[in-house]
Amino acid sequence: MSAEQRVAVLQEPERITVETRPVPEPGPGDVQVAVRAVSVCGSDVHYYDHGRIGGFVMHGPLVLGHETSGVVSAVGEGVEAPAVGTRVAVEPQRNCGRCEQCAQGRYHLCPWISFFATPPVDGSFAQYVTVPAGRAHPVPDALSDDAAAMIEPLAVAVHAAGKADIGPGTRVFVSGGGPVGLLCLQVARARGAARVTLSDPVAKRREVALAFGADAVVDPGGDVEIEPVDVVLECTGVQAAVDLAIAATAPAATVVLVGTGAQVTLPLDVVQGRELVVKGTFRYAHVYPAAIAMAASGAVRLDAMVTSHHDLDGAVDALLAARRDPDAIKAVVRPG
Ligand SMILES: [Zn+2]
Ligand SMILES: [Zn+2]
Repeated sequence: MSAEQRVAVLQEPERITVETRPVPEPGPGDVQVAVRAVSVCGSDVHYYDHGRIGGFVMHGPLVLGHETSGVVSAVGEGVEAPAVGTRVAVEPQRNCGRCEQCAQGRYHLCPWISFFATPPVDGSFAQYVTVPAGRAHPVPDALSDDAAAMIEPLAVAVHAAGKADIGPGTRVFVSGGGPVGLLCLQVARARGAARVTLSDPVAKRREVALAFGADAVVDPGGDVEIEPVDVVLECTGVQAAVDLAIAATAPAATVVLVGTGAQVTLPLDVVQGRELVVKGTFRYAHVYPAAIAMAASGAVRLDAMVTSHHDLDGAVDALLAARRDPDAIKAVVRPG
């Protein structure tokens, strides 16, 4: 008889049950990870509420959670590293390795990508998961289990900041003060940005942004005047925020679209008149080691963003924490 584990399963929108399932065995090239911490993402909440995100639709039960840390608990055939017992941050994607995008190194754009907690692929609100060995990134002792889980959203910010080529002296505008916005702010700082301004309609979030190193914060609903910037990291996907972000650009600025949204319009006259460079981002590739190094050095503070802990039975409380508590930033589930 195979070993069993507990898993929190989203059966349908707004209904999660904890059930017992077999522990997944690592196949060739994979490692099995005993999950220590899973931080909750806005996308998990969206699936909980609606059962879908755009074209990704739940057609059956789904295990949520993709921001994951743990300890390697078994390795599959042919795996030399990481060894059993290694603490790791889990990069929750598996690509085909054979297509054109994979060959070009853009494995996150592989048409056959599978990603935790994206239907029909289960996520990590579980005691054990399996991933390709190369996607289990060792973390130093300096990183807590919570911080190691949050390497995932940090990877989004590191990828976005890389697209914008932020460096010493860059003037940056971060649109949106949610977790990804706060991480973009911190990464911009860590890369030497001269001035980082963050906008959010919620006063509490602006306050938090200042605590995480923003030079200035603005209320997009107020009378806004923003000094022109070289880089915009747009983390909302909301039209009004995009409008403000575009307005904040200096000529030849780069606008990186991080926030997801169905459809927004861009003012062509401004994009053309200023020769703006508009870039899309989708998740990340190749950035986990850099993200881990940044967090381990203290340049980016992750533990300070964690505002509550929950066990698997409290998965719903974790998902709804941000909605119930205005002070909440990141909830963490510890399946152990
Ligand atoms: Zn996420
Ligand atoms: Zn591929």
